[in-house]
Amino acid sequence: MKIITFLAVIVVFTAMVTITANAQNDPTKVQKNEQTTVQQDSNKPVNTICPVSKEEADPEVTYTYNGKTYALCCNSCLKKFKADPEKYISRLSDDGKSIKKQNQEK
Ligand SMILES: [Zn+2]
Repeated sequence: MKIITFLAVIVVFTAMVTITANAQNDPTKVQKNEQTTVQQDSNKPVNTICPVSKEEADPEVTYTYNGKTYALCCNSCLKKFKADPEKYISRLSDDGKSIKKQNQEK
């Protein structure tokens, strides 16, 4: 009985080492998959609210800045956004669905 238990432990241990070795070879594939996903999402606006007017944004009116696409509600907001993108981007919440309260002042 003891020998069988000992052999079972060796088999399990060997299997774990093999799995670990394979897992160390795999991260390259995983990273490539993540990059592909990010690229597919990059054309979608990151926000649903216009950071200039604080109204609902139009997905058709967009401006790409620093590799991210931002949606505005109208062309006049688009002009203002282009003039100072970082000022308006800093107003957006992390999920792009609302405006940060601390940045609502002019
Ligand atoms: Zn607007």
